[in-house]
Amino acid sequence: MSEHKKVYDEIFTLLERHDDWMSKTINLIASENVSSPAVRSAIVSDFRDRYAEGWPGERVYAGCKYIDEVEIICMKLAKKLYKAEFADVRPISGVVANLMMYSAAMAPGERMMALSIAHGGHISHARANLGGTAGQIRGHKVQNWVFDEKEFNIDVDASIGKIRKLQEKGDEVKFLLFGGSVFPFPHPVKEFREIADEYGMTIGYDSAHVSGLIASGRFQDPLREGADMVTLSTHKTLFGPQHGVVLSRSEFADKIKRAAFPGMMSNHHLHNVAGLAVAFAEMMEFGKDYTGQILKNSKALAQALHERGFHVIAEHKGFTESHTILVDITETPLKDGSVVEQTLEDANIIINRNLLPWDKKRGRDYKTPGGIRLGTSETTRLGMKESEMDAIAEFIHRVVMKEEDVKKVAADVAQFKRDYQKVHYAFDNETDAYAHLRFR
Ligand SMILES: *Cc1c(COP(=O)(O)O)cnc(C)c1O
Repeated sequence: MSEHKKVYDEIFTLLERHDDWMSKTINLIASENVSSPAVRSAIVSDFRDRYAEGWPGERVYAGCKYIDEVEIICMKLAKKLYKAEFADVRPISGVVANLMMYSAAMAPGERMMALSIAHGGHISHARANLGGTAGQIRGHKVQNWVFDEKEFNIDVDASIGKIRKLQEKGDEVKFLLFGGSVFPFPHPVKEFREIADEYGMTIGYDSAHVSGLIASGRFQDPLREGADMVTLSTHKTLFGPQHGVVLSRSEFADKIKRAAFPGMMSNHHLHNVAGLAVAFAEMMEFGKDYTGQILKNSKALAQALHERGFHVIAEHKGFTESHTILVDITETPLKDGSVVEQTLEDANIIINRNLLPWDKKRGRDYKTPGGIRLGTSETTRLGMKESEMDAIAEFIHRVVMKEEDVKKVAADVAQFKRDYQKVHYAFDNETDAYAHLRFR
C-alpha cells in the first residue's frame, strides 16, 4: 500500500473512532450541540464546492441561482425568528460576526466596554495584551464592565459610573458590548440605552451561547431592549452548522454588508448557509419545546449536583436561567478544574474547565481554574429530561466526589447513552446522531 493511501485510511479510521466515541459519551460542553440528519444532508450538498461573493442578486460569481434562493430563505427565516429588520447570514463564525459588528460600530482603535474573561467574557471581546480579537485585530481599547460576583451579573450603577468617569477624562467610549461565554443570567441591556444615547454610543449584544434560547423567547430580547446589533453563533443552543449571523436595525445594514463583503469574506461557506436555513426551520417548528426542556434540564442538573454536595454558583438565584451552570470544584477531592476535566473525559463525560470570578485572587489561572462549566443543549437534543439529568449528576458524583474507577464509570456511561442516539426536535431523524456516514 502506498504511504499516501495509508495516511488517507488513517484519517478515516480516526474519524470513525471519534464518531463511535461520541456515541458513547455524555457531552455537556455548553458551546456545542448536535445537528440533525437534515442539517448534515444540507452541508454535504454541492454548495460546499461553490462561490457566491457578494449579496444575492448582486453576485460576483455565476452559477448562483439556487444558492441565491437558499440564502434569501435563510435571511428571511433569521429576520422572522429574531424579529430583526436586517440579517446578514454570511459570517462564517461567531468571531467573524463580532468583527463585522465592531467594523460597523467603530473605527479601528476606538474604545469599547465588554465583560472580562474571568467574568464570562469571550476572547473575541478582549484586549490586545490577552491576544483578544477586539484588541489584537482591530486595535480597540477594551474597558471591562464592573461585575457583581454575588449576583453573577454586570453591576449597572458602578458600570455607568465607570463610563461617565472615562468620558469626563476624555477617554471616549464608543461601543457597549453585552453577552458572554458563561451566561447564566440575562444582561442589563435596557438599563444602558439612556447613557448610550446621551453620548452617542452603539450597543452590541453577542448572543453566541443563547442564540437558540432567544429565538424561542426563552432568555431576553436584546433588539427590543435597546441593542443596535446582535451577533449569533449558530451551533450552541441554536442547533445549526458552525456559522455566524449579524442582526441589526436597518440603519446599520449597509455598514454590516460592507464589512462582510468585500471586507471580511470572499467565500462564505454556502453549504453552512443551507444547513443554517434548515436549522432555522427546525427552530420555528420545535424551538419552543426544545428550549423549554433545556431550561428545565439545566435547573435539574444544577439541583441534582447541589444535592450531592457540589457548590453550584448562584444557588440563591436558582442557579441559572440558561443552558449553562457553573460549579466551583475547589472543595471536591480533585480540587482543580483541569483535573476534573481530564478525569471526567476518561469516564466518557465531556465538560469544560472554567475560570471563576474569584480565581485570580486565589492564584489560579485558565490552566488550573477552580470551576467547571456545564451545558444541557446536546443532552436535551438527544431527548434527555430531568430524570436523566439526575443520572448524569450521579455519574459526575461517582467520578469527582467518590473517585471511583473511571473505566467502570465510562462503561456505565456508554451503556446509559445507548438509549439516546436519535436527534429529537427535528422533522427527520432516521440516521443516528453520531452515525459515521460513508460516501466513498
Ligand atoms: C463561542 C463564542 C463566540 C465564538 O463563536 P465561534 O462561532 O466559535 O467563532 C463568540 N462570542 C461568544 C460569547 C462565544 O461564547
